[in-house]
Amino acid sequence: MVNEKRLEIVYSTLLGIDKETENFDISLIEGAIVSDEDIERLKGIRRRSKILIAMGSCAVLGGVPSLRRFTSEQELRNVYNVVYVPHLGDALPLSKFVTVDYYLRGCPINKYELLNLLEKLSQNEWFKQEERRFLFLREKPFNLEGVALSLDGEKCIVCGRCVKICQEMTSAIDYINRSLETAISTPFKVKLDESTCISCGQCILYCPVSAIMEKSYVAEVWKLLNSGMHLTAYVEPEVLIALSEALKSDVGGQLVTALKKIGFEKVVLWKPQTEFNTSDQLTIIPSSEAEAIFVQRFYPDLIDYMAPPPRIKDNCIVWFSPCIARKLSGSLILTTRELIRLLGTMDLNSLTKTQFDEVKLDASNKHEVEVVGMEEVRKTLESIREGRLKTGRVVLYVCPRGCLHGGGQLLQS
Ligand code: SF4
Ligand code: SF4
Repeated sequence: MVNEKRLEIVYSTLLGIDKETENFDISLIEGAIVSDEDIERLKGIRRRSKILIAMGSCAVLGGVPSLRRFTSEQELRNVYNVVYVPHLGDALPLSKFVTVDYYLRGCPINKYELLNLLEKLSQNEWFKQEERRFLFLREKPFNLEGVALSLDGEKCIVCGRCVKICQEMTSAIDYINRSLETAISTPFKVKLDESTCISCGQCILYCPVSAIMEKSYVAEVWKLLNSGMHLTAYVEPEVLIALSEALKSDVGGQLVTALKKIGFEKVVLWKPQTEFNTSDQLTIIPSSEAEAIFVQRFYPDLIDYMAPPPRIKDNCIVWFSPCIARKLSGSLILTTRELIRLLGTMDLNSLTKTQFDEVKLDASNKHEVEVVGMEEVRKTLESIREGRLKTGRVVLYVCPRGCLHGGGQLLQS
């Protein structure tokens, strides 16, 4: 391409090329952004470039330098036994500061992927960011379907974040194929619900391009609201906390106003409870379908000790939850993210406050032990299996830090 003069390199510090040029057709940028100087330089390049490509893991995701945020000074001193510790800021991907048109993942990147992209761009074969990103590379993008969530292979950049977090949950997904055909799938490409997936939705929180998303029921709720049906909204406290944190003020009262404005008759603040036998017998209480499926698949010998997960049997209730797995319960569930979509452009902070019609937070759970996070859940179930834990009520939460970090919560930028 360069020889045929379809592309001319006008600037490259590596190649020692610096031809005076006002604007660029294509800019390829490697490396993470670590300083204010980097940010300014990046913004300047963005202004002068028609197309900006983030090249490699550091530019795409922050890469290895970003790991420093998990390392304390003390750890560095312990490992390297030196007093000097560099005080650098966070290492962040380009997309944190500017619009990125194309991503070339990997460390190092795949040179054929780069050449293919340049080839297409030099032939003016543009494609929009939201369209298939690697149209010319993959014959068949591989989609994964599930009842509560699905993976859109056209959007997936195969960064592997979902695989990593799922290894901490149930290892339901992994890489398949090789080279440019690499994709994310379940073993033997079975549907998510037929794999070991428990619909916890943690992979959604980690996917940088929203290739994995929950099945949305916003349209169904609008249909019911528009039909004039008398609907009640049941809101879990964690939904309210996430919204209030995002908007930096307690917006409970404003949320009630907003939901009534769009047609809900009643709004209830509710902590889901399950029904179980109150005898002294050991009881495993799954906080959602995710924990129930986990026990069924991995500890089937303990099913007899398990109570059903919380459910609502009322067609006139829309349940707002931080949990993706509740979508398997048969109730009409909207996650915190879907609630935001339902409210559209409504500015909660500008609304007046209305009281909840009912607050049902009273949990008669004095005698319950709460087990939070997959590792602790596994340890507890092992203890029960081995007969070391014989009595009590044990409530399981597989998500890290519990429902506050449920798969349906707001995505962090
Ligand atoms: S929902 Fe949970 S179990 Fe299923 S693929 Fe995602 S992280 Fe793995
Ligand atoms: S996290 Fe998203 S983009 Fe990355 S591999 Fe998984 S589905 Fe693909």
